[in-house]
Amino acid sequence: MARKIGSRYTANQILGRGSAGTVWLGEGPEGPVAIKLLREDLASDQELVGRFVQERTALLGLDHPNVVSVRDLVVDGNDLALVMDLVRGTDLRTRLDRERRLAPAAAVAIVADVADGLAAAHAAGVVHRDVKPENVLLDMQGPLGPGGSHPALLTDFGVAKLIDSPRRTRATKIIGTPDYLAPEIVEGLPPRAAVDIYALATVLYELLAGFTPFGGGHPGAVLRRHVTETVVPLPGIPDELWQLLVQCLAKAPASRLRASELGARLRELLPLVAGMPPLDVDEPDTEPADEPEPAAGEAVTPARERVRRGAVPLVPGAKPADSNRDTHTSMRVPAPDELAGGARGTARVPRPAGAPRPGSARHRAVTRRRRMVLGAAAALLVAAAGVGTWLATSGDDAGATPQDSKHSAPASP
Ligand code: ADP
Repeated sequence: MARKIGSRYTANQILGRGSAGTVWLGEGPEGPVAIKLLREDLASDQELVGRFVQERTALLGLDHPNVVSVRDLVVDGNDLALVMDLVRGTDLRTRLDRERRLAPAAAVAIVADVADGLAAAHAAGVVHRDVKPENVLLDMQGPLGPGGSHPALLTDFGVAKLIDSPRRTRATKIIGTPDYLAPEIVEGLPPRAAVDIYALATVLYELLAGFTPFGGGHPGAVLRRHVTETVVPLPGIPDELWQLLVQCLAKAPASRLRASELGARLRELLPLVAGMPPLDVDEPDTEPADEPEPAAGEAVTPARERVRRGAVPLVPGAKPADSNRDTHTSMRVPAPDELAGGARGTARVPRPAGAPRPGSARHRAVTRRRRMVLGAAAALLVAAAGVGTWLATSGDDAGATPQDSKHSAPASP
């Protein structure tokens, strides 16, 4: 069913549906186009419409072979539409779902294309903020490149930024796709170009491994892993490619490469990975679905959350207590230099000889026993602290330190 969009465009057929709206195959004065019609609730938000119009120049200004250009913005009655270049092909998520893992040459070529597109955007002062396989389109009409990959184009520029305006999302709420969120976003810093590099390196890891480095389980757990965990090496990956990945997944944004450097370095690696089959990577272990109910006070582990790998202690030199790190009751925010550890090497915490493999039945039994012991110890500590607090407060109320008040519940107004 054809539908008129403004005075110049007709939307003819639905190409796909996304989080922000529906994408149509359309026709404009210069030929076929893709028209993204934003969701009604977004299009009826006057502030959002205003922001789209304001950002018009930035959105329309990006012109690069690896960027899906926005050609026009249409605000017409209840319709808010982005008119884009039509890409005849599929998105990268669809390809990844089909193939599960890509041959390294294809993965490297696709990510190099996206890096080039990002470089152009970053040079124009635009941060994408939502780099993920769903936002990479593969142009099947373009020439076949290394590893049998068609040209890749990044789409949805500026959309995340516009839709996640401060009014729509409270300062404390993180919006985005958890698997691809850079640690500095989790920590509340403003997203700069380096967040796109982190997300793109996550995509590269996912194309090679078949899963993201920090994904799985509850979104909160995913966010925490971005900040605290180190990426687990992929078996069989050439060292140069691995070093590049590790550098771009660095916790410290300044340690990551720039988009133009990443694109160039990846292209240099293409001869090295030419002809390699997809990596032989085991799916990450998962918790058994029949895990017993957690004890009172114990953090709830989502039944199928991935077992933790390569845990990095939050305090340098400290050993992680055990693999069940979902209960960081005294977690402090790590300093930037501690977070930067990911840039240099793999920093996996070695498993002591004889220790059970995370996820194994023996490991789960040991973990359960430890939880019980820790639970009992915690109960004793709480009881002791309660007595101590009672003694302190009954003696002198002014004893509370500023740190104490930081952790106390906010006073009601
Ligand atoms: P998401 O919100 O998940 O990023 P989009 O709304 O951008 O998804 O797109 C939904 C689907 O529409 C995509 O998976 C893709 O198949 C199709 N699509 C998006 N943009 C274009 C385009 N410029 N040309 C052709 N197809 C497109």
